[in-house]
Amino acid sequence: ADQQTDAPEKERERTLVLVKPDGVARGLVGEVLRRVEAKGYRLVALDLRTPDREVLGAHYAEHEGKPFYEPLLEFMSSGPVAAVVVEGERSIEGFRSLAGTTDPTTAAPGTIRGDLGRDWGLKVQQNLVHGSDSPESAAREIGLWFPGL
Ligand code: GDP
Ligand code: MG
Repeated sequence: ADQQTDAPEKERERTLVLVKPDGVARGLVGEVLRRVEAKGYRLVALDLRTPDREVLGAHYAEHEGKPFYEPLLEFMSSGPVAAVVVEGERSIEGFRSLAGTTDPTTAAPGTIRGDLGRDWGLKVQQNLVHGSDSPESAAREIGLWFPGL
């Protein structure tokens, strides 16, 4: 048996990954999942859906009132999103590292945003992916996108 499946419960950390509408529209779901799986993480749940405002408002509650908030919700509800629960030791930090920094123009080469993203001059960063930023965020977001998981 491999280390992943033998890892104690506490080490099987979960994170919520979203391939945003720009990533789905550009046909990059497979590329993102390939990188996640190549890193050694496991996919626990996977769903393609166009999120409603209620889910998005809760998901991005920390950004309410910021100038990019409304454009962000509009963008995120503009088409299907691939929602994925990813599991593995330190998967929260690990996926954030795979994703790269928020601004895709300057995200490091080798990262999803750095390799595949760029600035399109719009009101919101269309940066292909989302990853939970802490264990608390991950638990909240997984409960929101996959109630009952
Ligand atoms: P993330 O954790 O790297 O996704 O970044 P944040 O949690 O700070 O922001 C959430 C999302 O809002 C980002 O992924 C971008 O899509 C968008 N966003 C964040 N900051 C900015 C900004 O300063 N300008 C614009 N236009 N969009 C932003
Ligand atoms: Mg964030």
